[in-house]
Amino acid sequence: MKLTVDARKCCGSGQCVLAAPEFFDQDDTGIVVLLAEEAGDDAAGDVEEAVFSCPTAAIEIVGR
Ligand code: SF4
Repeated sequence: MKLTVDARKCCGSGQCVLAAPEFFDQDDTGIVVLLAEEAGDDAAGDVEEAVFSCPTAAIEIVGR
């Protein structure tokens, strides 16, 4: 799957980092940083949890 993040929507809650730390990090101000734009099937659960847990819908799965 392919991922995008919209940093303008991010409020810095960090839920995505807890759910899938191999794909999401936060910069010095807490704003999300996407570490990898592609995720394999083995990581789908973690990534979907990150999408679901993001309070501002800043993470999107754009392709499978
Ligand atoms: S869960 Fe959403 S709002 Fe929180 S840091 Fe990640 S992208 Fe930003």
